[in-house]
Amino acid sequence: MVVSMKYLTPDLDFRKKILELSNGNLAYCYQCSSCTGICPLNLIGYFNPREFIHLGQIGLDFEELEHVWKCTTCAACESICPRGVKITEIMMAYRARYVEEGRNVPKTYTQTLESFFNYGNPFNLAAKERDKWAEGLNVPIAKKGTEILYYVGCTASYDPRSQNIAKSLAKIFNHLHLNYGIIGAKEKDCGNCVYFMGENELSAYERSLNEEKIRKIKPEIIVATSPHSYNFIKNNYDLPEHTEVYHYTQFLHHLIADGKLEFTKELPETMVTYHDPCYLGRHNKEYDAPRKVLQAIPGIKLVEMKHNRQLSICCGGGGGNIWMETKPEERLSLPRLNEALETKAQILATACYFCLLMFEDAVKVTNNEENIKVRDISELVAEAIN
Ligand code: SF4
Repeated sequence: MVVSMKYLTPDLDFRKKILELSNGNLAYCYQCSSCTGICPLNLIGYFNPREFIHLGQIGLDFEELEHVWKCTTCAACESICPRGVKITEIMMAYRARYVEEGRNVPKTYTQTLESFFNYGNPFNLAAKERDKWAEGLNVPIAKKGTEILYYVGCTASYDPRSQNIAKSLAKIFNHLHLNYGIIGAKEKDCGNCVYFMGENELSAYERSLNEEKIRKIKPEIIVATSPHSYNFIKNNYDLPEHTEVYHYTQFLHHLIADGKLEFTKELPETMVTYHDPCYLGRHNKEYDAPRKVLQAIPGIKLVEMKHNRQLSICCGGGGGNIWMETKPEERLSLPRLNEALETKAQILATACYFCLLMFEDAVKVTNNEENIKVRDISELVAEAIN
């Protein structure tokens, strides 16, 4: 990024706004550049978080800052920052400012945010069709007294490929005769992606609609399909006292450890490598549960990629980037897929529908369909029970 002299007039209001929107994080950075060194976007281009932060600190706002939309909010930078700066909050602050002012916002972002606003999902699809995936599957609607609330999320509700994750989890829950249910057509977007796309007010509104439903059901446990929903419900929702929130891999791991979930079928001997979704791993420090679930499935041998756990490379879909129009060479999923191929695993497993979609697309555009398959962990578990 080259700053021309004509822009060098500090805008103190801009600095104040970014400071406020980032919950003070802008002020903590001391410009060491560790974040820029680890940022995975530099595998496919150039991205300098330190420079973004510096420009905010000195109050320089100029059009090139539109590149802030490329950040996938993967938090690799946060995992290494010696000052504990919440860098994703700063990126979100820039976006919030631009959304508020209606400038520097890419068209696909505006369209996606409009869909969230109109329908409570990013697909421009009717709210009443949200639970169509569950037709004929004997999936109960949660009511007061339902023990486990299964929060499905937008993509598992509407995207045909990702619906198989919701169907697999419903199969597992029914197999175990769990007292569970879904919100159904009245479930709204969880608010996580909308928040990191910079639409705070819309995110808060959608969150409040879900909170109202959750308060009425008062479940003991909420299980989320997506690490993004899990992150937002667990860390941002106002929940009834004693309600615990789990990502589905954590929930399945508990069931396996307690002897409640037993595998009744052996899968053909398969080498599987696991990709850590950013919002489950770095954002919430859960690295073990998905691996333990995979290792419990008869027939599966787990192998690790070069970058794993805290050092895992993002799939490229977070922070709203899943809905951006990009060329293949601009996608982080390609270098990550190469790491998976290097392991010689037959399956690249993940636990997030964005990762699933990003990697299936990467496999397709690189003609690797014969070399590796992409599966969600829920699908592998569902296959290993009758
Ligand atoms: Fe600032 Fe932290 Fe990045 Fe260093 S790693 S430049 S302190 S945000």
